[in-house]
Amino acid sequence: MSELFTLTQLLQILTVNGEVSCDVSNNFPVIGITTDTRTLQRGEVFVALQGDRFDGHDFVVAAIAKGALCAVVNREFAVSHPEFPLIPVADTLRAYQTLARSWRDRFSIPIIGVTGSVGKTTTKELISAVLSHHGKVHKTFGNYNNEIGVPKTLLELRSDHDFAVIEMAMRGPGEIADLTRIARPTVGVIVNVGTAHIGRLGSEDAIARAKCELLAEMPDTSIAVLNHDNRRLMSTATQVWSGTTITYGLEGGILQGELLGHETIRVAGIELPLPLPGSHNASNFLAALAVLRAIAGWETSAEELYAPLSTGLSLQMPQGRAKRYHLAQDILLLDETYNAGLESTLAALKLLAETPGNRHIAVLGTMKELGERSLEFHQQVGAETQRLNLDGLFILADLAEAQAMAEGAMVIDFIDIQDLGSPQAHQLMIDKVLAFLKPGDRVLFKASNSVGMNRVVEGVRSQL
Ligand code: ATP
Ligand code: MG
Repeated sequence: MSELFTLTQLLQILTVNGEVSCDVSNNFPVIGITTDTRTLQRGEVFVALQGDRFDGHDFVVAAIAKGALCAVVNREFAVSHPEFPLIPVADTLRAYQTLARSWRDRFSIPIIGVTGSVGKTTTKELISAVLSHHGKVHKTFGNYNNEIGVPKTLLELRSDHDFAVIEMAMRGPGEIADLTRIARPTVGVIVNVGTAHIGRLGSEDAIARAKCELLAEMPDTSIAVLNHDNRRLMSTATQVWSGTTITYGLEGGILQGELLGHETIRVAGIELPLPLPGSHNASNFLAALAVLRAIAGWETSAEELYAPLSTGLSLQMPQGRAKRYHLAQDILLLDETYNAGLESTLAALKLLAETPGNRHIAVLGTMKELGERSLEFHQQVGAETQRLNLDGLFILADLAEAQAMAEGAMVIDFIDIQDLGSPQAHQLMIDKVLAFLKPGDRVLFKASNSVGMNRVVEGVRSQL
């Protein structure tokens, strides 16, 4: 592997930023920077991060034994372990981020930052698949999208990469700004503004402002790619961004797509197969096409740009997102169990209702982190199942949320509730769903990750 920095340079980077209190210096090549001793390679520098469950300082000895050049640690640890080659800093996470920012600055390739309330990972995968027609793409692994995952992804950049697609998430204000200053995207994508994490942020306006930190903090020469159909996003974005913008959408925008049935979209006069089902995924796909346009500029014709995609994309969606299982007796399970919020559940229900089949059944769980709007949103989801005329609703949720959802769904023919607090809830849900299913049924599973709805999908799958 090629070297990232010499140790001297690494020290300089940290010292310039006022974070080093020792005076080690030599020209050892640093071949990588890692926070994980399990994958640590000889010649890498280990950064000891402190998390809720683990403290990297407990692994410093193991890191040195495995051949780490040295370890970046907090000052107290350095004082108590003078026998090891250590770089003491005030804040190891900040040091890690500083190194990532500095490494990123050595690359002049397009760096695409992707944020939004729902659909970040999906859109990141779609952008990567589209760009892979044009070069080697480096992308966020899985969902490593936070203050640790973003620097980790940037530190994995290598000279043979042509593009990098970086997912950026937040739980509160200021976080997207921080990530943006580290990644310095040349293209900033905001897929939507919704209600995810509203419990922490308070209002949809606060969420919109937090997402738009991406625009406010990215370089003026970057290009914004924004979802035209999301009104709150567009009105907030125009307050903080006046640079080059490409909007996309199904309702309008510079790059407007028109759905032709369930499987095809027409963009700029060209018909393309939809890589993933559902109008929400059509919107995510348009974001990817807009990124391609942003990078290519306007000299390239639409034909040249998009026609190569007509043979389809090779997509590897992570677990629990847009997964479909065709089982015996033409039963189709839609596995969206990775996570759930209001908008993503409504989008998934719409997709379920639009999927041709015998009966349409939803197996839904608690949507977490909705704060004081929680019951209102669960009721809204219940009402949507009724509006869509679903044939069955199974609820595996905390009791108050379950009742709110059932109340909203009132007149649906069949409703079953399992209390998430009960130890048998998952098994009972599996048994009840299995007993209810008939040939040709379409079944959607969706809940926040911590509900463990994936276990219900597995249980049902394994017995069909
Ligand atoms: P996280 O915050 O957990 O990283 P994310 O923003 O990366 O989530 P994805 O993992 O891409 O989001 O998608 C989560 C779910 O949201 C999907 O399973 C799908 O049901 C739904 N979804 C994806 N894109 C959209 C969209 N544009 N609008 C509404 N719902 C969507
Ligand atoms: Mg994600």
